[in-house]
Amino acid sequence: MQYIDLAAVYDSLVAEPSSLKKAALIATLLKKGVTTKQDALELILLLQGKVFSQADEAKIGYSTRLVIKSIAISAGFSEKEIEERWRSLGDLGLVAEELLHKKKQNVLFSSPLSVDEVFSSFRKIASYTGEGSVSQKVKLFSRLLSSATPLEAKYLVRGVLEELRVGVAEGTLRDAIVRAFLDQDGMFEQDEGVDEGKYNDREQYVVRVSAVQRAIDLSGDLALVCYIAKTEGLEGLEKIRLVPGSPIRVMLGPKMETIEQALKTVGVPAAIEYKYDGFRILAHKVNGVISLYTRKLELVTNQFPEVVAALNKGVAAKEFILDGEAVGIDPKTKKYLPFQFVSQRIRRKYRIDELAKKLPCVFVVFDALFADGVTLLDESNEHRRAALEKLLVPLPHELELATRKIISSEQEAQEFYERSLGAGNEGVMFKNLSSPYALGKRVGHMVKMKPTLETFDLVIVGAEWGEGKRSGWLTSFLLACRTFDGEYVSVGRVGTGLKEKEELGVSFSEMTELLRPYILEEVGREVRLTPHIVVEVAFEEIQKSTTYEAGFALRFPRILRLRDDRGSDSITSLDHVADIFDDQRHATQKNRS
Ligand code: AMP
Repeated sequence: MQYIDLAAVYDSLVAEPSSLKKAALIATLLKKGVTTKQDALELILLLQGKVFSQADEAKIGYSTRLVIKSIAISAGFSEKEIEERWRSLGDLGLVAEELLHKKKQNVLFSSPLSVDEVFSSFRKIASYTGEGSVSQKVKLFSRLLSSATPLEAKYLVRGVLEELRVGVAEGTLRDAIVRAFLDQDGMFEQDEGVDEGKYNDREQYVVRVSAVQRAIDLSGDLALVCYIAKTEGLEGLEKIRLVPGSPIRVMLGPKMETIEQALKTVGVPAAIEYKYDGFRILAHKVNGVISLYTRKLELVTNQFPEVVAALNKGVAAKEFILDGEAVGIDPKTKKYLPFQFVSQRIRRKYRIDELAKKLPCVFVVFDALFADGVTLLDESNEHRRAALEKLLVPLPHELELATRKIISSEQEAQEFYERSLGAGNEGVMFKNLSSPYALGKRVGHMVKMKPTLETFDLVIVGAEWGEGKRSGWLTSFLLACRTFDGEYVSVGRVGTGLKEKEELGVSFSEMTELLRPYILEEVGREVRLTPHIVVEVAFEEIQKSTTYEAGFALRFPRILRLRDDRGSDSITSLDHVADIFDDQRHATQKNRS
């Protein structure tokens, strides 16, 4: 497939607010572009603005500096001219489009770019390392730009910067796959357009959407699902099984405010468990090899050697998928430590053993999804727990079973809740005894409860270079929440909560290094950042404000911790900020009256 076809779809997607219509646009593209498995991989990743899957830690690693160089080479403008246009247009993609347009008005385009060529070039750019790698990267990208039409140039630049932002969610891709490859019975009325309710056979449509969703959940691989839907249809999708070794999404729990509400949701009797304040990990074993995945599907096996060792010792099964939490423990007192401690383990890439001794983790397991050829997903919680107890021989302070009790009354729950908090945990989880494991869903089979100190998970979209003793560090971070459409809107600035010295907890210098790869633009001391780093923020109050894009401002915000476990797409929503603002207003009115 030619890259221009993809670029044209990108352009239509940006302008299209309806996700149903987005799905229709993508379906046409997939129908045209997918013949082989590789085609499916390339298109599905590129539509999400990526060339590596989530489990792959690789980044393209092409900076705005290098993009400016490449535009200069291929469009024949000076870097200064390009920077000036960037300042006024605010987007290097638009600059590339405009400048290539100026250059190419009278030139006939050479051989057209293919999707495959762009995809493999982006991967090649990521693979160049060491001496001479920068010039190799620039050469390759400049060559792409030189063969590009202005429209293609816009998306090549956004793509290579990993800043595509066309707003394709997983659900849209799922619907597009249904529409492209599972529509043999004419479920969609072709000439009626694609509005909701215009299906000839809504029931069949729903069946197919759930089949595709289940295949995605079980395989964790959208590209594979796309390819199988095309080549083998529904029957092929139904053959997809859970296999240890490929990352899958964890089940999540909605938050409850009271024990009464929690028990109403999960029913009685219910299981109640300690809610450990650690890092969620799904441990897979296949062919004697253990892999650890985060809930964002990233591979973190190397970061937790003691968890791998403990699982090898404590679980006899040859193949398994276990769900649990890596919790930091104080090496002397063996008491649980809060999340901040484990969080350092995740970020550490070198001298891991040294840190593992200083900040060891215990792996606390609370669920079993697969064991020796048997999928347990559809079994009840009670059954899975019993299977887990058979699988695992606990090793104190290394590998443990989540502390759990079956309760039937609010009073029992209250006692367990207090016991859990007393043991240094975050709260409790309530679990419905007869529910299956719902991959990737927050459906109320389990619910969480913790003391209510409302905090937000916000993404850092800007910062300021510090002065005086803070010079050389990024300080004063601009925080954003997310709108329904996936836009990031600022909601406050925060400068407190970080440490000035390297010690336990996040320091300014560490935060600066974390943010540095995401710098998009610097104007004076102000820095604009790609939304990537998520922090948990506490605050005193929310106020209406015209200073920030959200229309609200956080009063006295402070950073509590990094949320390495959370992607910028699952942060606090603007709606939630507005809800909390309303709650707060009602509470004050009540207090006054
Ligand atoms: P939150 O991070 O506040 O959304 O809370 C949900 C998280 O609690 C899960 O993703 C797990 O990482 C964690 N958790 C801790 N203990 C348990 C448990 N016993 N069962 C399930 N999840 C748990």
